[in-house]
Amino acid sequence: MTILCYHSVEPAWESPLAVHPDAFERHCSWLARRRQVLPLREAVNCLDGSGRLPRGTAALTLDDGFAALHEHALPILRRHRLPATVFLVAQTLTPEGRAVDWVRTPPPWPLRTLSIEQVLEMQSAGVDFQSHSWAHHDLPELDQEACTGDLRRSRELLEDVLGRSVPLLAYPRGLHDEGVREAAARAGYTHALALPEGPEPVGRYAVPRVGIYRGNGVASLRVKSSRSYLRARNGSARRLVRQIRGAVKPSGARQLPS
Ligand SMILES: [Zn+2]
Repeated sequence: MTILCYHSVEPAWESPLAVHPDAFERHCSWLARRRQVLPLREAVNCLDGSGRLPRGTAALTLDDGFAALHEHALPILRRHRLPATVFLVAQTLTPEGRAVDWVRTPPPWPLRTLSIEQVLEMQSAGVDFQSHSWAHHDLPELDQEACTGDLRRSRELLEDVLGRSVPLLAYPRGLHDEGVREAAARAGYTHALALPEGPEPVGRYAVPRVGIYRGNGVASLRVKSSRSYLRARNGSARRLVRQIRGAVKPSGARQLPS
């Protein structure tokens, strides 16, 4: 099984990034009945060499910390008692804030992110929060020092706000290369999660996830959360890594939305 990656959960935004709440309800109902959904901190310690979770288990993650999660995802997660991790863009929690300008196909209205109050309320309700970097830059574009600084600053601010450790990172748009993976380690993370759309290395700082998008029904969820789906994706990656001994620069030209 695998780690699933959602973004927003909301009815009005017709985007691959925004799963309709009715669909999210069906997904969560299926996961609660058919899978053991692990807290992400536990899940990252159960991964096999190709980044897969033990049979019958899954983990739920949501990237970007959109405000709609408070209204539309939280009640569903609570109803089904499912653990979930939301990856926050730390700068959005500062007094100056950070506008959501990283979405390639935004709706006509401004997208909002969770407030500190909403984050803390969701944390009290059992939702886990981790880092999605400081400012949602494409990390391979930054030099090593800037990248490490961005990731460390995010971890420190989030630890301050949340009052707990923040050992996990999800790369913005899933983009990473060797320098970014080293920066994640130097910035104090124990694991970093990607979103591979093609062959990629797999490891502690390149934990694969599978994206779930608007229009994906329970049948898609079932296929995408299977071990064989990830194996099919990663088989070529492992061969590639063996060939060039980790010197691979993961494909940076992928059309990943967020
Ligand atoms: Zn993102």
